[in-house]
Amino acid sequence: MSQSVHVHAFCDLLDGGGVVDDPEQIATYTTDQRQLFTGSTFAVLKPATTKQVADIVRVAARQSIGIVPQGGNTSYCGGATPDASGRQIIVSLERMDRIREVDPVSMSISVDAGAILKNVQDAAATAGLLLPLSLGAEGSCRIGGNIGTNAGGLSVVRYGMTRDLLLGIEAVLSDGTVVSDMRKLRKNNTGYDIKQCFVGSEGTLGIVTGAVLRLAPLPIRRATAWLKLAMDAPLAELLALVRRESADLLTTFEFMTARSIALASEAMTNPPSVRAGAGGTVLAEFASSSRHLDLDGLMEAVLAEAIESGWIEDAFLAQSGSQRTAMWEVRETIPEGEKRRNGSVKHDISVPLSSIQRFLDLAGSQVRSYDADLELSVYGHVGDGNLHYNVLVPPGVDRIAFTKRIESGLSLQLYDTAAALDGTFSAEHGVGRFKKHLLERYGDVGRIAAMRRIKTAFDPADIMNAGAMVRPLGKGSAS
Ligand SMILES: Cc1cc2nc3c(=O)[nH]c(=O)nc-3n(C[C@H](O)[C@H](O)[C@H](O)COP(=O)(O)OP(=O)(O)OC[C@H]3O[C@@H](n4cnc5c(N)ncnc54)[C@H](O)[C@@H]3O)c2cc1C
Repeated sequence: MSQSVHVHAFCDLLDGGGVVDDPEQIATYTTDQRQLFTGSTFAVLKPATTKQVADIVRVAARQSIGIVPQGGNTSYCGGATPDASGRQIIVSLERMDRIREVDPVSMSISVDAGAILKNVQDAAATAGLLLPLSLGAEGSCRIGGNIGTNAGGLSVVRYGMTRDLLLGIEAVLSDGTVVSDMRKLRKNNTGYDIKQCFVGSEGTLGIVTGAVLRLAPLPIRRATAWLKLAMDAPLAELLALVRRESADLLTTFEFMTARSIALASEAMTNPPSVRAGAGGTVLAEFASSSRHLDLDGLMEAVLAEAIESGWIEDAFLAQSGSQRTAMWEVRETIPEGEKRRNGSVKHDISVPLSSIQRFLDLAGSQVRSYDADLELSVYGHVGDGNLHYNVLVPPGVDRIAFTKRIESGLSLQLYDTAAALDGTFSAEHGVGRFKKHLLERYGDVGRIAAMRRIKTAFDPADIMNAGAMVRPLGKGSAS
């Protein structure tokens, strides 16, 4: 059957605006966030209801048309991008963006999977509650994508990853079956936890159409501090001190090197005058929903203890909302700063907290011996053992060729180091199309076998996001 016949079949299922087959409009959906790969498709479908998603999947399955689910297309591993065959359709959830219900008593929010993360945060805040998932892309990423990648972000140290926030799910399986489990229960021991299968599944098992997320009390007080680290400051010990002495009120513990701060500052219109210490900086924040806690006093006491230990040279406590915003802006502008300079080769590594310092030392020597002229931008959610260990693309150099060179050489050395320390090559960005070879290289054989069995059980014909992450059994190698 020709592609135009398929398009007609999909037009019959969807109302006006639900099928995009104009090549110019399609182009905005077929390149990944980092602009490393452009795939091809003959149509982008935008269902407005779960039923429409199920109808699309049934037609696609009958015609052996592959499906790539897409949210905000902000992910970093090419998982939301179709392959070059032109035989996969993109199913964008952007028209399914309703907040279905906020339940302040159960402290939960039920949403369509296409809801933009920021809108979900705002809806929760209007009810006096916090959706504790926050990341730089929150203005454009969507809940289905957050579930697909198990997004982490800026407050994992206190609230966990997306996985920890998911209470219920609605999803369409590869034969059009709808899994309807939009419950708000904290406790529900009634068999396999199917919703968790979709977390981090990167669209390979089905299309998530709805989610129930756990909310927390909305913080009304925050204490935000900029810690100038002493040279070789022991990050894990510092984190332990801050957590212990704040009674775990810590919501953020973000590490930034001087180079990353400089890149962010160059990209800001009004950069603050804050600088890094000899060992970099930590942006630490306490948050509380209580009116009775003196968070500033607590932060001052904790910082005094850290200074006394010699781990930090100095620290600044934000004295106003605008000072806090400025500190945060530095952290959040780092990706933009890297992009403006000519981009970076990203390494989203994670190691046990106890090995962070060792990783930094070993990786630093590896970079120096690979090419002493390379520049790094190192920052990350170090409170979770997660570092973005990024190699900057030199100005004027071809970004894609440079990325390929680094990824086939230095990156593997860095990942080897992370693996030797019991860490991982992907902490929060996923596997997608770009990191499949790394999953094969570093993944435990038994774990990959189990993943392939799960994939086979959910999607034996490999309709759902074929080419991303893992293949079903009987379809060649794991990836
Ligand atoms: C500036 C910036 C900062 C970022 N910071 C962070 C960070 O701190 N932490 C972090 O974890 N990530 C971060 N990211 C990466 C990205 O924002 C996250 O991975 C996010 O969760 C992706 O959501 P999305 O809606 O854009 O998903 P997409 O990119 O559209 O899709 C991601 C994957 O999920 C699948 N998918 C999408 N929707 C569905 C669905 N409805 N059902 C099933 N599968 C689906 C796709 O097929 C794809 O495999 C950042 C990105 C940028 C650009």
